Amino acid sequence: MTGVKHMKWWGWGVDGIAFHHEDKPRLAPFVLDKVGLDITTPGRRSLQLEDLTIPPSRLSDQLRATLTKIVGQANVVDDDLDRVVHTKGKSVRDLIRVRRGELGRVPDVIVYPGSHEEVQEIVDACVDADAVLIPFGGGSNIAGSLEVPLEENRQIVSVDLGRLNKVLSIDDEAGLATIQAGALGPDLEEQLGRRGWTLGHFPDSFSHSTLGGWIATRSSGMQSDKYGDIAEITRGLKMAMPGETLELRPLPSTSTGPSVREMVLGSEGRLGVITEATVQVHRLPEVREIQAYFFPSFAAGLKAMHDITRSEANVTVSRVSDERETAFSFATQKKSGGVSKLVTAGLMRVLKARGWDLDQICLSFVGFEGSKGHVARQKGIVKEIISEHGGMNVGTGPGQLYDQKKFDTPYIRDFLLDRGAAADVSETAAPWSKLKPLYDNVIEAAENALAEVDRSGYIMCHLSHSYHAGACLYFTFAIADDSPEVLERYDVVKRAIQQTFIDSGGTLSHHHGVGVEHSPWMEQDLSPAGMKIIGELFAGVDPKQNLNPGKVV
Ligand code: FAD
Repeated sequence: MTGVKHMKWWGWGVDGIAFHHEDKPRLAPFVLDKVGLDITTPGRRSLQLEDLTIPPSRLSDQLRATLTKIVGQANVVDDDLDRVVHTKGKSVRDLIRVRRGELGRVPDVIVYPGSHEEVQEIVDACVDADAVLIPFGGGSNIAGSLEVPLEENRQIVSVDLGRLNKVLSIDDEAGLATIQAGALGPDLEEQLGRRGWTLGHFPDSFSHSTLGGWIATRSSGMQSDKYGDIAEITRGLKMAMPGETLELRPLPSTSTGPSVREMVLGSEGRLGVITEATVQVHRLPEVREIQAYFFPSFAAGLKAMHDITRSEANVTVSRVSDERETAFSFATQKKSGGVSKLVTAGLMRVLKARGWDLDQICLSFVGFEGSKGHVARQKGIVKEIISEHGGMNVGTGPGQLYDQKKFDTPYIRDFLLDRGAAADVSETAAPWSKLKPLYDNVIEAAENALAEVDRSGYIMCHLSHSYHAGACLYFTFAIADDSPEVLERYDVVKRAIQQTFIDSGGTLSHHHGVGVEHSPWMEQDLSPAGMKIIGELFAGVDPKQNLNPGKVV
């Protein structure tokens, strides 16, 4: 027993937590109205692990003996459950294929190293044996970054970092913590919190993703406006590469040519296995508050978020949903409390009297942290900006609810799959000057794609993660389809969205990475010369393509 816990093999998160509609009376009518799907029908997932056909392990006796010598027998695992769990990430494509029993190529063995030295030996043993090595963090990626190439005939070794989950040291003066790469979000926050620190990195996948995975995919957390993306948070790191260890000391900044640290960020396992990182941490704030606001339109909300970014306010979260996502948020509220408390007939009458089109209301969250005085000053600055754009403060209730429930929201995809709809996300970043046209183009492209495949569906969006130059737009889309062709239809919509990102001046992904899902757009994003640089970097470090081949480029 390795003691490492994993998510469900067929879906998101852990057993015992699931999304329900019964406590959200507006949801079923909303979904029926928007996509014609009746979600009150019971779910239909019936496949059990025993029903899967799992190809036999191809691990040679020789490589097994070598790996066993390195990590011990208990940490070399090839049982069915472990092999299935390590086969894929958690994109809707992954979930659909696993639920259908379409596993493709499955890792032949999973090893659980307990130290950097063991990881280094595993990397070298895999290269010597010409085996494929795929690092595994929490398995939460949604870009196909763990996908084993179907045509791959070599042995596949999945290296699970789950035993490397400790905060090793904290430099209290610099606020720099050295943490092992396999630490999951809650593990590392709990260890840091005991000493009064926080990393401040809270992706929606926080509960089931790791520090190493965040670095390897260039992740971004909900509070990135204050704490930065993982790319800024990561100051130094250690990585086992073929034949040697890369050690980058933690530095505030450096002028040592092209940044090797940046080359490792987003490398998705193609350069080696990150075993630890030294990251910027912050003192736990005295006050933490998320205020909710309404805007009369998405355009007004976008402008307000831009103005907050260029003001003297230093917020932790700047987020605004379009009217579609706002309507969805209203529909998912429980019988009492949260947003539903706000959507009262009285308030709606007031807004109508002010000339608001109630179908265009956009919900926004802005986060504040720090001392009481600091938070009060920031709120004052933001209040003025919000009212300049016609917005209205609706208090902390909805923000608290959002904060408490955000890590449970991902369970909705399994609920929808069980009832005949496929939902997933695509996100981008673009300059402020291009955001609204990009948004309009994506909505139009997705709706055209849904019409092309002749299926009803829904697309909605929010802005989050603001920068001086621009921001991230995060689209969630769903197709009502439980036919065998659902993935082909999903692809038509996904492709239309991704291509529109590029055509409208955005990037192929702001924080989900490339994997195999987004690699078709890499050349358009980086130009052929950029592809050449990345291709030659990977080839130089890993000439036989033993390290997670086929990802990124
Ligand atoms: P894995 O999925 O295990 O691996 C991802 C990639 O990194 C693979 O290529 C793997 O080989 C490589 N890798 C993992 N560990 C290492 C290591 N130690 N050394 C080298 N390579 C390694 N992402 C965000 O950024 N923000 C979000 O808010 C967010 N929300 C999400 C919500 C949901 C519901 C889902 C399904 C995903 C979400 N994601 C989000 C995407 C995902 O959680 C991130 O990509 C995350 O960084 C992956 O971390 P992981 O530990 O799960 O890595």
